[in-house]
Amino acid sequence: MSNQKQSADVVVLGAGPAGYVCAIRLAQLGKKVTVIDRAEVGGVCLNRGCIPSKALIYAGTLYEKMAHSAEIGIEITGAKVNLPKLMQWKDSVVSKLTGGVAQLLKANGCAFVSGEAKLTGARELEVKTAQGTIAMTFNQLVLATGSRPAAIPGVEIDQKRVLDSTGALSLKEIPGSMLCIGGGYIGLELGTFYAKVGTKVTVVEAFPSLLGMVDQDLTRVVQRRLEKMGVKLMTQTSVKAVKAAKKGVEVTVNDGTKEQTLSFDTVLVTIGRTPNSQGLGLEKAGIKVDAKGFVPVDAQRRTNVPNIYAIGDIAGQPLLAHKGSKEGIVAAEAIAGKKTVYDVVAMPAVIFTDPEIATVGMSEAEARAAGLEVKVGVFPFAANGRALSVGEPDGLVKMIGDAKTGRLLGVHIVGAEASNLIAEAALALELGAMVEDLALTVHAHPTLPETLMEAAEATLGHAIHIYQRKPAGAGAAQVRV
Ligand SMILES: Cc1cc2nc3c(=O)[nH]c(=O)nc-3n(C[C@H](O)[C@H](O)[C@H](O)COP(=O)(O)OP(=O)(O)OC[C@H]3O[C@@H](n4cnc5c(N)ncnc54)[C@H](O)[C@@H]3O)c2cc1C
Repeated sequence: MSNQKQSADVVVLGAGPAGYVCAIRLAQLGKKVTVIDRAEVGGVCLNRGCIPSKALIYAGTLYEKMAHSAEIGIEITGAKVNLPKLMQWKDSVVSKLTGGVAQLLKANGCAFVSGEAKLTGARELEVKTAQGTIAMTFNQLVLATGSRPAAIPGVEIDQKRVLDSTGALSLKEIPGSMLCIGGGYIGLELGTFYAKVGTKVTVVEAFPSLLGMVDQDLTRVVQRRLEKMGVKLMTQTSVKAVKAAKKGVEVTVNDGTKEQTLSFDTVLVTIGRTPNSQGLGLEKAGIKVDAKGFVPVDAQRRTNVPNIYAIGDIAGQPLLAHKGSKEGIVAAEAIAGKKTVYDVVAMPAVIFTDPEIATVGMSEAEARAAGLEVKVGVFPFAANGRALSVGEPDGLVKMIGDAKTGRLLGVHIVGAEASNLIAEAALALELGAMVEDLALTVHAHPTLPETLMEAAEATLGHAIHIYQRKPAGAGAAQVRV
């Protein structure tokens, strides 16, 4: 073990989508950057989150489509899932991307130190590497250490029978049954994948509905599809105990009326995420954290210590890769002395359930709670030619407009390709568009984006492909499906 001393201009601690994007932008702006990570570049998102989960979800959907293809006249026999091979393919997608990020960091001249870092002051830290400890001084530091799965006290995650999201992305066999504890997006995405490849999935959620903050008009569509897939949904039910049995896991649940113990082959715990702010030596640098362990930041992502910034999951909600990347760019530009501010109007969020959910801007409930007079238009996928011709009639676009000004306030989509459709709505919001702008924009036919144009027309009271009883007026034009 050797001990070394190094000095760096800017250190980026964490090479997830927040950290690596920040490092590249810093390098583009002429800064000398050292990136530190104890694991592979790409963070949770590339290695244990967004990318591997979406690869599995794609494969699950493909398999499910094959299983139902006879309905449209394509008969396939003998389709089966080879899970080890599927996992290998998923891993190959991950390593292509992480390899690409490593190359980009190198090409941009960013130094990379592999090891576990801990602050020892406001301008110094220590990195434990395989070769020894490095004592490093820096002028500026960007904290991008992300988050990890939240744990249930007393429930041990062995990644075999009791899993967190990381374990669920690398199973060796398809479990016969699985209980997902937590009906948030990670549990539902992974639960949907396993349901599609043949696992009998149950979801238990303490709150009255799945996907907490999402508009119920959207959640209902996903809920119907889950039930059709055979997923058992237990809402308003809390988990009292999780016990590994001889075979599988025994879970005691209580729905307020009765307590029962159920057996599953595996349990997936997805009850939220905890910021990686403990054990980082933040107190040595005088960095404040909030009650939940997130690091509060200003509009340029600066912490209470002027030369230290925080971005990504550690800097708080929403815990999304693209939010972290955006913050990374803002922090890099602030460090480089540019006039910059984190001033995002539209932060899209996507849930890769079946069908997908994508939202941006205010929900109907939020707009009403803010005291706004709103106009709501809903357009169903069932009335869109493209949705029917790709066998995806389930879904809707719900558009929220300001009744007084005509300004677009929010767009909420459940349906096929919602993840891609939301980009148009995000741009519209970011540009301060009127609902009418979306209605006036010619959309190619037959395409799914036509649902956005027609939802805008529905908000104004004159959608063509659905019948709207009332003329336009505040709150008048509404179609519920
Ligand atoms: C299953 C799953 C699916 C997801 N799907 C999506 C999705 O579809 N879309 C989306 O936007 N988001 C998704 N997310 C969330 C997304 O992964 C995170 O929001 C994102 O990774 C946060 O980026 P980050 O850079 O802040 O931190 P992270 O990606 O967590 O990276 C932090 C890095 O810091 C390193 N680190 C931490 N502490 C230290 C230390 N002391 N020393 C050295 N290195 C350290 C870690 O090794 C890690 O590489 C998903 C998450 C999960 C778990």
